[in-house]
Amino acid sequence: MQRKKIVAGNWKMNTDLNEAIVLVNSIKQQATKYKDVEKVIFPPYLFLTELSEILDGEANFATGAQNCSEHSKGAFTGEVSANMIASVGCAYVLVGHSERRTYFNESNNQLIAKINQALENNLKVVFCFGEQLAERKSNLHFETVKQQLEEVLQHFPKEKLNDLVLAYEPVWAIGTGETATPQQAQEMHAYVRKVLSGIFGAEVANQLSVLYGGSCNAQNAKELFACPDVDGGLIGGASLKADDFCKIIDSF
Ligand code: PEP
Repeated sequence: MQRKKIVAGNWKMNTDLNEAIVLVNSIKQQATKYKDVEKVIFPPYLFLTELSEILDGEANFATGAQNCSEHSKGAFTGEVSANMIASVGCAYVLVGHSERRTYFNESNNQLIAKINQALENNLKVVFCFGEQLAERKSNLHFETVKQQLEEVLQHFPKEKLNDLVLAYEPVWAIGTGETATPQQAQEMHAYVRKVLSGIFGAEVANQLSVLYGGSCNAQNAKELFACPDVDGGLIGGASLKADDFCKIIDSF
């Protein structure tokens, strides 16, 4: 089975409603020709309903939430449940982004609970992981990634993994303008598949899409996507410009 190619845009805490509508319409108009690439937009929560309606019925276009609660419902002021996200037409949720791990101290147990919530509500999960600069400099990047993957993913049976996408995001490359070289990305993605193979077996490991994230842009996407184990990208800054985002989608 061929792995799905995916390009996802993480808008983070950017855009207001008007800007979000203009941006998504522009992407929708320009990106329809790249039919076999799954295009996922992760706008702020508030705009998910509107943007999901705009993209409704567009082949291989989906919206996703940047986070979800680890709880199903109840007295958790300010939180947003996976059920709420699914109910407005969203198909995906991001879990484990380094900004949430760092600024909101999300633990592995919370990430496991969030993935459970997402899967129970039929949302696909993009699970993010990656090493810090100090870990790479100390040559601990493989060990770090192995631990991040094993400690979370071992809690899920193989049967649940159809709805899982992985995103390797070296923290030193996120929002810094510094990108992993294609060699570094391929080396890590191949290693990720080895780790996945150890947890779930080779067949599953070969079927899961593994995206690269970290200052991926219109200039470097082609080389990164040409790597045999890179199945697409999770794009931050460059996803806020329709032209750049569409050039990235066109880079396969
Ligand atoms: C991200 O935050 O997931 C990301 C990859 O950001 P950027 O592309 O801006 O580095």
